[in-house]
Amino acid sequence: MAALVLFGGGGDLAMRMLLPSLYFLEYDGLLPEGLKIIGAARSDESRDDYVARVRAAVEGKARADDAWTDEAWARLDARLDYLPVDATDPASLKPLKDRVGDGGVTSFLAVSPSLYGRIVTALKAAGLAEATDRVVLEKPVGRDLQSFLQIDDAVAHAFSEDQVFRIDHYLGKETVQNLIALRFGNTIFEPLWNSLSIDHVQITVGETVGVGDRWPYYDEYGALRDMLQNHMLQLLCLVAMEPPSDLDPDSVRNEKVKVIRSLRPITEHEAERVTVRGQYVAGTSEGKPAKAYSEERGQASDTETFVAVRVDIDNWRWAGTPFFLRTGKRLAEKRTEIVIQFKPVPHSIFDHGERGHIAANRLVIELQPEEDIALSVMNKKPGLDQRMQLQPIQMSLSWGQGDKGAKPPRRRIAYERLLLDALAGDSTLFVRRDEAEQAWKWVDEVSDAWRGAAFKPKQYAAGTWGPQEADLLLERGGRAWNTGHG
Ligand code: NAP
Repeated sequence: MAALVLFGGGGDLAMRMLLPSLYFLEYDGLLPEGLKIIGAARSDESRDDYVARVRAAVEGKARADDAWTDEAWARLDARLDYLPVDATDPASLKPLKDRVGDGGVTSFLAVSPSLYGRIVTALKAAGLAEATDRVVLEKPVGRDLQSFLQIDDAVAHAFSEDQVFRIDHYLGKETVQNLIALRFGNTIFEPLWNSLSIDHVQITVGETVGVGDRWPYYDEYGALRDMLQNHMLQLLCLVAMEPPSDLDPDSVRNEKVKVIRSLRPITEHEAERVTVRGQYVAGTSEGKPAKAYSEERGQASDTETFVAVRVDIDNWRWAGTPFFLRTGKRLAEKRTEIVIQFKPVPHSIFDHGERGHIAANRLVIELQPEEDIALSVMNKKPGLDQRMQLQPIQMSLSWGQGDKGAKPPRRRIAYERLLLDALAGDSTLFVRRDEAEQAWKWVDEVSDAWRGAAFKPKQYAAGTWGPQEADLLLERGGRAWNTGHG
């Protein structure tokens, strides 16, 4: 690959995530030799000014990770360039094409998704969608099935599917890949990984931040489209999928798409029972007063800032084991986790009452704020008590335990992994067209059900875990959201 072009190279995503990740890859000596990195946006900025901005964005992060060296920066600096272009205009792309030559270009679209269709069409017209070229798309691609297909038809017209890399940065997280290692690199979990042993699964993506001035984007999307359609369904797929025959991109993605096809549609009739929509009102978030969403938005809105859903997967492995998904803004904690809740023992041989209480095993895969995997198991409380007492203990199964000298993975590793894979042409951790299409289809059915039932968001105070209906969603089946942390 001769060049990586960051369209929107001066924007928030590029400066906060992509360029620091590229620095870390450079620091680790992992960037392909000879690769040029070109920022491309409409602003008329000189190369020197752009590079100075990149350095400012990178240096603090690198120093905080004790990973700054002048040599690594000099190597990155030598690769960097900036070109003012309007990516929707083929004529404006001509100098870029001349600059990169014919050695293969990866175009990373770090721009508004509303431009994707026009940009890929312009890339094709400018000769930047040849057989050796690739395109990387950030989520969200579309806001419903119809708009997704419109954009994706333009993408398919310019690039073949193996040249297209739809990023879901959750898939680049070390712990998400560790989940695959845990499931398929061991014999002890897979025989239990089904509805015979697992009572239910929870996936929580909690954010403490509010929508703030991102409301023009957010108000059109809401939590269902912004988080659940992509990140959360991707996590669900990795937990629920059958073992692929190998780690080939298509083997893994074939299994994921089968899961999405098996999701039970949510009907208008069922919506009230299996989904919860919420919107935050004023409250206290991380010790500070927080405004209501409607106040940030400047007027009342029916957009949900919280969603919780009971998802049933209609296949042999999961029939009878619900998956509970919840995500929202201004929640009590910034926390992303997957909880695999095993069934209780069928009969307790220990004392009844508190002392002999047996908590069912629970595997917690934490993605934020820390990355960790912990299994809770029951253990004997040490001592000479005549009646044996039990206690739950947490066994950490995460990367650090086996490798005492290892440094913790860096926070930006998700984008590092994905940039490296896109440059190498490995699409295992990227979302295939049919996966995204099926996910939109399912999500559209949920939003149609909400519309049909005139299902308005319930209010919740900023700084809480959402409307109380989200607790009831689990309590109805005698279950509860995981609180065994924090
Ligand atoms: P942003 O800060 O608004 O940056 C957008 C960039 O696009 C700017 O550099 C802008 O620069 C450039 N641009 C706009 N029109 C252009 C055109 N016609 N040709 C070339 N460049 C153009 O947006 P962002 O937050 O970085 O988001 C970028 C993408 O990443 C979006 O798809 C977003 O949904 C996604 N995303 C962002 C984040 C995040 O944390 N920021 C997280 C997940 C996903 P000029 O005005 O100079 O052209």
